[in-house]
Amino acid sequence: MRPANFDYRRPTTVADVLGDLASTPGARVLAGGQSLVPLLNMRLVQPPVVVDINRVEGLDELRERDGRLHVGATVRQATVLASERAQRAVPLLVAALAKVAHPQVRSRGTVVGNLCHHDPASELPAVAVALDAEFTVAVQGEGIRLIAAAEFFGEQFRTAVPPAGLVTGVSFPVAALGTVAGFHEISRKAKDFALIGGAAQFRLDTHAEVVDARVAVTGLGHRPLRMTAVEAALLGAPPTDDALRTASRLATGEVVAEVNARSSAGYRRRVLPVVVHRALRAAAARIEVSA
Ligand SMILES: Cc1cc2nc3c(=O)[nH]c(=O)nc-3n(C[C@H](O)[C@H](O)[C@H](O)COP(=O)(O)OP(=O)(O)OC[C@H]3O[C@@H](n4cnc5c(N)ncnc54)[C@H](O)[C@@H]3O)c2cc1C
Repeated sequence: MRPANFDYRRPTTVADVLGDLASTPGARVLAGGQSLVPLLNMRLVQPPVVVDINRVEGLDELRERDGRLHVGATVRQATVLASERAQRAVPLLVAALAKVAHPQVRSRGTVVGNLCHHDPASELPAVAVALDAEFTVAVQGEGIRLIAAAEFFGEQFRTAVPPAGLVTGVSFPVAALGTVAGFHEISRKAKDFALIGGAAQFRLDTHAEVVDARVAVTGLGHRPLRMTAVEAALLGAPPTDDALRTASRLATGEVVAEVNARSSAGYRRRVLPVVVHRALRAAAARIEVSA
């Protein structure tokens, strides 16, 4: 299929992007195009203007600042996946990215574009929620605001980004030394979207007991869900397989049937603790690797 006609703009400054977005209601940002272009081709979206941000200066930065890893709006998924700094700073993001699509898609697709698209079966929103990621959003005439991941994701394919807003980047807290992370998903084919996926991260204190546990799940409902009861149950105990399994049984959350047509709500509810347990086990396996 061919897209409906649209105006194509390719500004080189954030100010010009914001001007283009503000001057035409319904204008859309184009980042990696891996989700937007199929939507255009199928005419599921018909924006009057597409604003390509790939030549905008300063949006391609991947750097650590003030204890956070900042990922600019045009940083490719492949760049983060291959980055030793990202692996050290935010191992959970890298573990999840390894499950996202194929190398071809990741070489164009951006981390920020993935989060803005907010497919309810996507891996990265679970990481953002688990780690308390923070989005930097710019709107013409309103300056810059920060939106916490807990507020960012709305109904499926919706976010808190205002209509003429540009997400200039997302930041994740840098993990303390000894942090381990794992992502586990069930999908019909390798590298496909998850039917359900779990993100887990924790570290051990000097007594080899779990501190700072982070667990979230994607694919259950409209938005990624933080598994706070699981997190609480993990704290203060060694991460034995029994402890991980027992904590995983506390995984719970609303399962929305119409989200994720690839699997039934009953199936996702049943495998939820299994997915959480396997994500935790994948994280725990990293302890042995780093020991
Ligand atoms: C074959 C295939 C398999 C895939 N498999 C997976 C998978 O397993 N898991 C997964 O998570 N994803 C998967 N994807 C989606 C992929 O990760 C996309 O790259 C991602 O969803 C969108 O990122 P993008 O940079 O391409 O954004 P685009 O397609 O350019 O944009 C996506 C949406 O976000 C908006 N947007 C983008 N950037 C910004 C910004 N800075 N500010 C405001 N709005 C913005 C756009 O306007 C658009 O609405 C797959 C895609 C394909 C084609």
